[in-house]
Amino acid sequence: MTDIKSLYLSELQNFITENGFPKFRAKQIHDWLNKGVTYFDEMHNLPKNLIEFLSASCYISVANIEKKLTSRYDKTVKYLFRLYDGEFVETVVMSYHHGYSICVSTQVGCKMGCTFCATGKSGFSRSLSASEILAQIESAQRDLGVRISNIVLMGMGEPLDNYDNVVRFLRLVSSEQGLNIGMRHITLSTCGLVPKIYDLANEELAITLSVSLHAPDDETRSKTMPVNNTYPLKDLIKACRDYFDKTGRRISFEYAMIDGVNDSDECAKKLAALLNGLNCHINLIPVNSVKGSSFKKSKLERQRAFINILEKKGIAATVRRTLGSDINASCGQLKRNHTDKEGGI
Ligand code: SAH
Ligand code: SF4
Repeated sequence: MTDIKSLYLSELQNFITENGFPKFRAKQIHDWLNKGVTYFDEMHNLPKNLIEFLSASCYISVANIEKKLTSRYDKTVKYLFRLYDGEFVETVVMSYHHGYSICVSTQVGCKMGCTFCATGKSGFSRSLSASEILAQIESAQRDLGVRISNIVLMGMGEPLDNYDNVVRFLRLVSSEQGLNIGMRHITLSTCGLVPKIYDLANEELAITLSVSLHAPDDETRSKTMPVNNTYPLKDLIKACRDYFDKTGRRISFEYAMIDGVNDSDECAKKLAALLNGLNCHINLIPVNSVKGSSFKKSKLERQRAFINILEKKGIAATVRRTLGSDINASCGQLKRNHTDKEGGI
């Protein structure tokens, strides 16, 4: 069966014509898929034989709402979506003054095993197809009746561990014939799969690369992020410098502040030295506590002291506002609660 929503329009045209149908039908099918139609017989302007052919040879990926939570404090909405095989992923929609931003998942679970992360604790099931990543956006837009203008790939999973599907998704979602969300409005977050950062730099995508750093030295980082044993900081930062040189895009670093683990003055100084001369921005995030982990967020005064040191060293940093704190809005947590109740993981 062909995953029809993952095809570029040119591929759909080839597929249609190779099977004896006129090329213009591809655009009609494409338009229906963009509208979020999930059954071929809803495509009213297609002839019956084409609908029968499509139904027999293709499938349309879905993200069905299993659960929806809306924050009482802000307009953040969190979805638990059910995929065709009964797997679940989480998606969060945030409302900002400049529009709606969506945080999508790229895998069911994650192999990377970061100790502070709810997704990392749940193990790995499978990667999502490009169409399943798209379907999260379409389902959310349809449900909320809004147009989403920004995308962050910061939900469940490691995007660069699902490289081909993620790059396909990026091209599809930003194409004029697709949802047409510009690359400049897309951020991809990675824990630091170094070879894939080099590959990504060559794709000529104008996205923002966000790197989850969370520690200023190998010893501290390896304790919470096993990926650091394979790709230590020296190699990671070198790849980031190369990424900037090739793309001219400023890198953004995520740094979850954990009480007593990575939030000392010394850590801030080491971090400034590590990133010296790199055009970047640091997002400091007070760590979200996760079931089964004893990490606590850094105290407010620590956050201030840390940011002051960075600023004095000329490194741009901000403490990120936490949205949807009442609805487990950091990814991995809703699914965990859901499957826990079902007697899952
Ligand atoms: N796998 C990718 C993207 C998904 S995780 C990555 O790791 O970058 C999205 C972001 O949430 C990452 O920066 C990750 O480190 C962060 N994160 C995970 N668990 C967190 C927690 N408990 N508190 C704060 N940030 C967390
Ligand atoms: Fe995976 Fe990112 Fe969570 Fe690490 S932080 S386990 S890479 S989803």
